[in-house]
Amino acid sequence: MSRIRVGISSCLLGEPVRYDGRDKHDLFIITELGRFFELVGVCPEREAGMPVPRDPMQLVGSGETPRLVVIRSGQDMTGQMRLFCECRLAALATESLCGFVLKSNSPSCGLSGVAVYPGPGGAPEAEGRGLFAAALTARFPQMPMAEERWLREPAHCSLFIEQVVRYCRHLS
Ligand code: SF4
Repeated sequence: MSRIRVGISSCLLGEPVRYDGRDKHDLFIITELGRFFELVGVCPEREAGMPVPRDPMQLVGSGETPRLVVIRSGQDMTGQMRLFCECRLAALATESLCGFVLKSNSPSCGLSGVAVYPGPGGAPEAEGRGLFAAALTARFPQMPMAEERWLREPAHCSLFIEQVVRYCRHLS
């Protein structure tokens, strides 16, 4: 019998895809979730064609509809990321995912509370959602999703596992 499939930000799996060429390997989450689920890595920035390493980006503008901007150059990557999300989410819709774990604080993957800046420099004035996370929640509004920082709490991790199993039963 095939295992329940859960998407996860690739850097949490240990893939060296972050802007600095490193990973964010999370042994606790991978061990706990890996006991029950097949984990399917997705790195929106890498898969959207951005190099490793790359200049870091930040969210700029309003908390509701922020733009994805390279900090140093001011280059706006919003269009490139939105195009990727459209294609990748259409593909993910055929992959029977029953949940998703997202890297906290990322301007692409962060599910909540990502700093949004008014412009280059200065302090953040709002909080928002990374562009991939926003597209993912819009495309799959009922799918259980969690940030990695929430899952470090064992009770939250158990609850997420239950939600995924329930959602999977509902799908099949
Ligand atoms: S947080 Fe998301 S976009 Fe950034 S390296 Fe990890 S998977 Fe890639």
